[in-house]
Amino acid sequence: MKTYRVNEIFYSLQGEGVRTGTPNVFLRFTGCNLTCMKETHGFDCDTEFASGRDLTLDEIVAALAECLDDAAASQRDDVSACRDDANAARRVRCADQKAPSPSQGEGWGEGPNAARDPVRNADHLPRSTAQNKADQNGNVNGRRDHSNPARDSVANTDGTNWIILTGGEPALQIDDDLITALHDAGYKLAIETNGSIALPDGIDWITVSPKVAEHAIRQRTADEVKYVRGYGQAIPKTVVEAKHKLISPAFDGNVLREKTLAWCEQLVRDNPEWQLSMQMHKVWGVR
Ligand code: SF4
Repeated sequence: MKTYRVNEIFYSLQGEGVRTGTPNVFLRFTGCNLTCMKETHGFDCDTEFASGRDLTLDEIVAALAECLDDAAASQRDDVSACRDDANAARRVRCADQKAPSPSQGEGWGEGPNAARDPVRNADHLPRSTAQNKADQNGNVNGRRDHSNPARDSVANTDGTNWIILTGGEPALQIDDDLITALHDAGYKLAIETNGSIALPDGIDWITVSPKVAEHAIRQRTADEVKYVRGYGQAIPKTVVEAKHKLISPAFDGNVLREKTLAWCEQLVRDNPEWQLSMQMHKVWGVR
């Protein structure tokens, strides 16, 4: 049976490009056809993509569903923790201060503002029939439910759960079967590729981040094209046709040097068809 070698699957916010800040499941494939280093590319590859496990399509679809279920469940836990924290804060305030009168009830969970307290009111949100049928882990009648509506809570602003195909270089492994299976499971697909391998049709959002010379780029259409630029590197003359053209200042590990940022800012000021894009996940401290 055909398998794909997968490095990791995790849920997080997209930290780069036009889709920055959106929630996604990252499906990271093992392996890359390049070895990016400061000496040759102006930056060192910051991704571990060597390890991995062989998974069938069914196993990938199940693992993605499980990841989203876990994200939805931990979101519910976070709401509970938030509620506990808020109650603890109220207790501290109750202990430290004289209790306010009902007319001073702001933020106390009692009194006239209680109805506006989102933490308190999370308890009373209506649940759909399907949610009521599903247990906390998204299982229905003991079987994994691959269309669990509880995942709506961790969906994108378009109401869809997005998968980001990444690596390493995902184009080494992805194919029509994978794209069809993930679409059939209800997902939209984004990809982050170095552009050196032409992609199959059907991917919903393509990010090409070239790491090879322009003549060696095979994927020449994209939604966004993003070049990492170190201090002193020129604006690219790209062969990739894309609506969004992005310059991403090279980080040194998790550190962005001031002079690199200033250099890239100036590149964009001088070439206004380009846009500055930062690796915000490193600023946010998320994966
Ligand atoms: S193409 Fe991307 S994943 Fe591959 S070595 Fe370069 S930076 Fe790393």
